[in-house]
Amino acid sequence: MAFEPILLRNAGNPAVHEVSGYRKAGGYEALSKALAMEPEEIIDAVKASGLRGRGGAGFPAGLKWSFIPKGSEKAKYLVCNADESEPGTFKDRILIETDPHQLIEGCAICCYAVGASTCYVYIRGEYVAPALTLERAIADAYEHGLLGEDVLGSGFALDMRVHRGAGAYICGEETGMLESLEGRRGQPRIKPPFPAIVGAFAAPTVINNVETLCNVPHIIGRGAEWFKSLGTDERNTGPKVYCISGHVERPGVYEYPIGVTLDDLIAAAGGMYRGRALKAYIPGGASAAILSDEQSGLPMDFDSLAQAGSMLGSAAVVVMDETTCLVRATLRLAKFFAHESCGQCTPCREGTNWSEMILARLEDGRGSESDIDLLQRITTNMSGTALCALADACVGPVRSLVTNFRPEVMQHVEQGCCPLPRQSIFEPGAVS
Ligand code: SF4
Repeated sequence: MAFEPILLRNAGNPAVHEVSGYRKAGGYEALSKALAMEPEEIIDAVKASGLRGRGGAGFPAGLKWSFIPKGSEKAKYLVCNADESEPGTFKDRILIETDPHQLIEGCAICCYAVGASTCYVYIRGEYVAPALTLERAIADAYEHGLLGEDVLGSGFALDMRVHRGAGAYICGEETGMLESLEGRRGQPRIKPPFPAIVGAFAAPTVINNVETLCNVPHIIGRGAEWFKSLGTDERNTGPKVYCISGHVERPGVYEYPIGVTLDDLIAAAGGMYRGRALKAYIPGGASAAILSDEQSGLPMDFDSLAQAGSMLGSAAVVVMDETTCLVRATLRLAKFFAHESCGQCTPCREGTNWSEMILARLEDGRGSESDIDLLQRITTNMSGTALCALADACVGPVRSLVTNFRPEVMQHVEQGCCPLPRQSIFEPGAVS
C-alpha cells in the first residue's frame, strides 16, 4: 500500500538531527508561521484538524489545549509524554530517534498556543539513546534561537527540558507522571482537578503524547483541511504510526492514514510469519481487548475498534498466529499489569494479582470452569472502580479472552494442560 510518510518522512536522513539539516528539509517553517498567528487561531486550527491524542485515549488535542485558562499570569506548562511503556509500543522512540526537531517544533507551537513558557519531555528511563538524541537537538535549538528568551525574535520565551523517568509503567498515566516530575513516587492523583487547571507544580498544564505533538507542525504548515483529507472520517483524521510486532515477517513501525486494516498492515510487514494463519491480534497495545482473525478487515481507527469492543490505543499491533496459546499470552499481559499496579486502589491491586493467579492455573491445566466465571466477575469489579486506567487496562485482554475465546480456555480445563506446544510470541526465540 503506497503512502508518502509524513511523520516518518525524515527517517534515514540523519542530517535532520541538526537544526541546519532539519531546516533544509522544510523544518521550523511551521513554527515561524505559528508565531505570526494569534494563539487562539492555532488552537482553532488544531481543533478543526480533528487531531486526537495518539497516546491511547484519543482525546481531541485542540479541545484539550482550549481548557488551559486564558489571561492568567500564572505559569503554564506543557509536559510531553514520552514514557512509552505499553508492551508492543515503540513508535515514539522511533519518532524521537529519527526526527527530534519535529517534536521540538510541535512542542514549541503548542506552548505558544497555550501560553506555556516551560516544556518538559518526560521520557522513560530505558530510552537512553532517544533521550541523548533529544537533549543534543534541544541544545542545538537553543543555539539557533529556536528555544530560549526570544524564540525566532518573536518575543516568545520557551524553556525545554528532558526529564528521565525510572521505568515505571504507571508514570505514563498523566497524573502519575506529574507526581514523578515533581520528585514524588509516581502514583496517579484523584481527578478532578484535571491537569489543565491543576497540573505540574499546581499550575495549568497540557499533557500530550510525542506523536500527537509531532503532528502539529504539519497541521499548521499544510492546514487543517489537508490533515482531515487523510483518514476514515472526520472523527478519525491524519496520519498514524502503527507499531507491528509478533508473527509477521518484518515487525516495525509503519505509517499510513489512520484507518487502514490489519490485513493492510500485515501485508506491509511482509505477511504472516512463515505463511502461518492469523489467529488473533491486539490492535492497540497490551490494554486493548484481543480481536479474532475474523475482525482483521476492520479499519484501525478510534471509533471502528471501539465499536468492535477494543481500542486503537497506542496502535501497538501484536499479531498472533495459529501456534499462539491465547491463555498464555493473556497471562503474560496480566502478569505485567499486576507488576505495574501502583497499589493505591484495592480493585486494581487485588484484581490484577488474582487475574494473574487464575490465568496461571488455567494455562497449566489446573483450572476449572468456575475459574472462567470468576475471572469474568473480577473484571466486572475492576472496571471503572479504580483511580486510573490501569485496572481497566488489565480488564481489556482478560475479559476478551474469557468472552471471545472461551472454547480455547475450556480446552485447557478439559485436557488438563495447554493444548498447544509451550511457545508464544512472548518467549525469546519464538520468532527468529
Ligand atoms: Fe494505582 Fe491501579 Fe489505582 Fe491506577 S488503578 S492508581 S495503577 S492501584
